[in-house]
Amino acid sequence: MADGSDRARVIDGKAFAARLRERVTGAVHDLRAAGVTPGLAVILVGEDPASQVYVRSKHRQCLEAGMESFEHRLPADTSEADLLALIRRLNGDEAVHGILVQLPLPRHLDSDLVINSIDPRKDVDGFHISNVGLLGTGQKAMIPCTPLGCLLLLRDLHRDLSGMEAVVIGRSNIVGKPMAQLLLRENCTVTIAHSRTRDLPAVTRRADIVVAAVGRPEMVRGDWIRPGATVIDVGINRLPGEGKERLVGDVHYDSAAAVAGAITPVPGGVGPMTIACLLANTVVACARLHNLPEPEGLTA
Ligand code: NAD
Repeated sequence: MADGSDRARVIDGKAFAARLRERVTGAVHDLRAAGVTPGLAVILVGEDPASQVYVRSKHRQCLEAGMESFEHRLPADTSEADLLALIRRLNGDEAVHGILVQLPLPRHLDSDLVINSIDPRKDVDGFHISNVGLLGTGQKAMIPCTPLGCLLLLRDLHRDLSGMEAVVIGRSNIVGKPMAQLLLRENCTVTIAHSRTRDLPAVTRRADIVVAAVGRPEMVRGDWIRPGATVIDVGINRLPGEGKERLVGDVHYDSAAAVAGAITPVPGGVGPMTIACLLANTVVACARLHNLPEPEGLTA
């Protein structure tokens, strides 16, 4: 609708992520010239097929950006003591500036304990309790990649989010809560909706910005959207399709695009931003660890 047509402007996350990766590559070049190569260590425990795809993609994109990538694939029955020992080693490894433990972990491992054993300065997922606290109190933090990606897209579209009504649907520690903190930091009026919210369509209809992070295919319908609102769809849901599976978001795209001012598609919206932000976070962590000037335009 921003272009005068009767359909929402499509927010091209794939193109934005490509531009962000170019900025990352430039920053890596500068850091290498200063004598350091940003390095990301990814730990994958077990054989979860979706996680394996993500880890391969992270590895490839790191190398493409000129970074070092260290993969640690551990068997599903790895003990907590062994995993913590590996993290301790990586915390002390000067070639490693970012440490990511691929979630979910097998059930016998305590995710909170594992994440909180990462050096917060190397916590490029932004899940360590110190980074959660820093973000919540408006201090310089490592920001979780998916909400960071959403915010970069929103800022690119709106420049100033101040005073806007934002409704975040979903209250997970990975997406919903940090997203709400970021929007609050941008001076939005923020509502966090969740599975117990009463009359979710009415709450959502108030929003200038809707961020849907629920994990329920096409739950948010067009008649929940205020005309002209910006819709950020974080959901990635796999539905059986003809022949092969189909990816859909948490938003019913066609009906929402007929009402919204701008909308992210699935795929091609938020998804590509997540790994680009992971690379950006690793470069920022590297610069901070080495007391070098922080590259511009890589974080929020
Ligand atoms: P989660 O399961 O941890 O949290 C889902 C949240 O949705 C919960 O807080 C719950 O209260 C809320 N919810 C559930 N049912 C609801 C309902 N009927 N009405 C309102 N709220 C409801 O999920 P998550 O990790 O936050 O992920 C959410 C979605 O985002 C998933 O589809 C996931 O695949 C996707 N995701 C995408 C990326 C990406 O890179 N694009 C990254 C992370 C997650």
